[in-house]
Amino acid sequence: MERLKIAIQKSGRLLEDSLGLLHDCSIKVDNGRDQLRAQAKNFPLDVLYLRNSDIPQYVQDGVADVGIVGENLLVETGCQLDKILSLGFAKCRLSVAVPKGQSFTGIGDLLGKKIATSYPNTLRQYLKKNAVEAEIHVISGSVEIAPAIGLADAICDLVSSGNTLFQNNLVEKEVVLRSEAVLVASPQISTTKKNILDQLVFRMESVLKAQNNKYILLNAPNDQLEEIIAILPGMKSPTVLPLAMSGWSSVHTVIQEDKFWEIIHELKAKGAQGILVVPIQKMII
Ligand code: AMP
Repeated sequence: MERLKIAIQKSGRLLEDSLGLLHDCSIKVDNGRDQLRAQAKNFPLDVLYLRNSDIPQYVQDGVADVGIVGENLLVETGCQLDKILSLGFAKCRLSVAVPKGQSFTGIGDLLGKKIATSYPNTLRQYLKKNAVEAEIHVISGSVEIAPAIGLADAICDLVSSGNTLFQNNLVEKEVVLRSEAVLVASPQISTTKKNILDQLVFRMESVLKAQNNKYILLNAPNDQLEEIIAILPGMKSPTVLPLAMSGWSSVHTVIQEDKFWEIIHELKAKGAQGILVVPIQKMII
């Protein structure tokens, strides 16, 4: 029977979340610490553990059918892959930063300057779009030290918290692109593999939806029930069950976690008590 081959990062930032996602999709695979390939035990999926920067090319060449990569690498490599799903982890931005105290009024200030980066193609496209000619200095790691050692006037690197920039006395000035982990697929996979991919995507979507939502249970006095229900933005309509104590009901619903924090005080003010917020594993609407 045909199996879908998925490429994921062998080691680094994306590995743990990629394996975590497969695990949450109830797909059992060994982690890639000692191996290059693993077979899922309960789903027609083979996992190839590869270097992150090689994944787009391997998927384009058909060595793997699908892959989990940082979206920024699609732009950098120029590989023509189908983006199937944004996965919500490894969120970062590719930004231009300059030494603290250096004046910067806009990207035009980098005309004729040296910029160090590990992402030369993306930076080149950005400079071209802004009609700025600058010298790109390619380095594969620790880009942030380049200005301090006199190698460059500015850098263009991936940033998430901004801590590394701060520690190296650099200030973020321009966002070149925003990125997160994405599921990508080769445009030419067989129909059987496409069916397996559809099942995988269905599972991933239900896991991702569940991550943003919480199951809420609360006790409400019956005379306030209507008003409390009016505040709760539910999936469809909340479940209302009578409590053993007369005059009270238990209200159950599903809401987005952010929304919950917005309405919690309103719920309490209307008399809601014993509010429980419970994680959801999978959500199918
Ligand atoms: P790495 O494991 O460092 O090779 O990074 C793998 C991928 O994670 C990169 O291609 C980016 O998409 C993403 N990434 C890199 N740096 C960061 C960062 N500082 N914060 C969040 N994601 C990042």
